[in-house]
Amino acid sequence: MSDIAGRLDAILEKVAGARRSADAGSASVELVAVSKTHAPEAVSEIVQAGHLLFGESRVQEARAKIPLCPARARWHFIGHLQSNKVRAALPLFEMFHAVDSLELARDIDRIAAELGLHPRILLEVNVAGESSKHGFSPGKLREQFEALLGLERLQIEGLMTIPPFAPEPEESRPYFAQLRTLREELSTTFSAGLPHLSMGMSGDFVVAIEEGATFVRVGSAIFGERSGKVWRPGASE
Ligand SMILES: *Cc1c(COP(=O)(O)O)cnc(C)c1O
Repeated sequence: MSDIAGRLDAILEKVAGARRSADAGSASVELVAVSKTHAPEAVSEIVQAGHLLFGESRVQEARAKIPLCPARARWHFIGHLQSNKVRAALPLFEMFHAVDSLELARDIDRIAAELGLHPRILLEVNVAGESSKHGFSPGKLREQFEALLGLERLQIEGLMTIPPFAPEPEESRPYFAQLRTLREELSTTFSAGLPHLSMGMSGDFVVAIEEGATFVRVGSAIFGERSGKVWRPGASE
């Protein structure tokens, strides 16, 4: 077994363990293997090991990489999406995890209509109110939720967050819990089905699952550290 396949196995085992112990009762948890900066060969190893869901955060990179990966692989966009990249991104990804403003949501809606698509999206919430982070503040999301729901092409399926960086996974727990509470509130207030919570990365995915995550986005714990070396088309490994 390759290093990557071995690490994938270990992560899947931890995901399953956390799900069993989650009293939030996560119905399902899917692992998004975050392949950004890594070569198509690394993706292929994971597909061969039987895992098909991947996450990318740059449109240009994904656009070059996806055609070189096994066709069975499924792709989620997990990064900040710029409006001028929406048209290129929409056909490539089955879900967008980080829609972070009403303006962007409107752009996606308009272009999806032109392309005949109904994209699945999650709304990114800046739970801690960090000025360096993208995302709706909880207040803004409450204010704009009705308008978001009115965008006919969008299938709004839940919320996503990236908590402040913390060395200890337990420090992320309050932010994950807040995202879950906000989801419950919005779901009740607006009678909206919001089945998904995308939260948890390599350092804190176990805690995220305990708090109700349905998608965890794990990169370095599977692929190894991103050492500043970024995959580009045509680059030899
Ligand atoms: C890179 C990235 C991840 C994965 O981070 P790791 O710490 O490598 O697991 C998760 N979510 C987003 C939005 C990312 O950009």
